[in-house]
Amino acid sequence: MNRFTAKAPARANIIGEHTDYATNQGHVLPTPLPFHTTVTVQETDGTAGHLTILSENYGNQPHDRKADDEPRHHWTDYVVGCVRVMSKTVKLPALEFRIKSDVPIGSGISSSAALCVAAVRALRGLTGAELNDEQIALMAHEAEHDYVGVPCGKMDQFVASLGRPGQALLLNTRAMTYRHYPLPPNTAIMLVNCGKKHDLAKGGGYKQRVAECAEARKLLGVSTLCELGHKDLGRLSTLPDVIRRRARHVITENLRVLEFVTALEEGDTERQADLIAASHVSQRDDFEVSIPEIDALVESSKRFGIRAARIVGGGFGGSIIALVPRDQAVAWWSFIAKENPESQLISTYALKNSENEYAA
Ligand code: ADP
Ligand code: MG
Repeated sequence: MNRFTAKAPARANIIGEHTDYATNQGHVLPTPLPFHTTVTVQETDGTAGHLTILSENYGNQPHDRKADDEPRHHWTDYVVGCVRVMSKTVKLPALEFRIKSDVPIGSGISSSAALCVAAVRALRGLTGAELNDEQIALMAHEAEHDYVGVPCGKMDQFVASLGRPGQALLLNTRAMTYRHYPLPPNTAIMLVNCGKKHDLAKGGGYKQRVAECAEARKLLGVSTLCELGHKDLGRLSTLPDVIRRRARHVITENLRVLEFVTALEEGDTERQADLIAASHVSQRDDFEVSIPEIDALVESSKRFGIRAARIVGGGFGGSIIALVPRDQAVAWWSFIAKENPESQLISTYALKNSENEYAA
């Protein structure tokens, strides 16, 4: 019986948070992380459309699903969604999926996109369907967005499918064009989980932010919020307070991504730190997606002397990202852990980071 195994990485977004919704269509700057989800898909004897799904991360018990099932608000939905999207392109037999992953789940580094991209890649391998990596990203997005029902943008799937180790992917989510940039040298990308899990499919706050951005777009009469720039910020004064602050975050965050890329090209680490710090303040005060546990991690980082720290991911829990000079990374983490005993370091790779170790 035919079988194929594929994997896809987790990601960290360096800067550009909540800019990628359909209403916003701004820039993001994610990078893949050396954590992966691996999916093995195997043809089985059953009736076409029958699916057996197992995940080592969820007890490795077989779950029976059908390709035409309605979503059940269960983790297997992600795989069913990928099968449904793929079956628009190619006829699929009965299938068994085996999943394993070292990506921390629900920690803001996108285990969901790693799963969907790996599943669609595995299906491409099994069927020999002619799909490029952009198409894979779009299909993984369709599975998560349309079937699972997470109102997510396309960043996670694009970086999981197209990202390169040790490089950031500047993605214009309007034109869906992208460019790779080397990450700053001698800088560790530190990710620290605050100890509170999140689940975007269940959480109401994220959906509310999506709705608020739609409201801002409607009231401003634009097709996307990120077509607005510095000179347009005055227009926001006519909006109701909450909507104004949501829009201000999205517009300024998009501008920060572009400034950050310039600062990367110029090797201006002070400017990079300013922009990341400003991103946190904007998410905390204007977009209101932070929580006290996350703010405490960012404040600890500042007390240590690192300003380049901010909330990362969908918000309402999850993790911070910090850019820390490599020779200070161990001391930085010891300091953070002492002040925040519940927190956990996600990116231990950053402590031993080198491109070779990443590639291995
Ligand atoms: P994040 O993508 O930041 O980790 P999400 O809430 O978007 O958080 O996605 C997490 C969900 O994705 C899990 O609750 C689960 O349903 C699904 N998922 C992710 N990885 C796996 C895995 N290895 N096995 C099974 N389901 C997974
Ligand atoms: Mg996710």
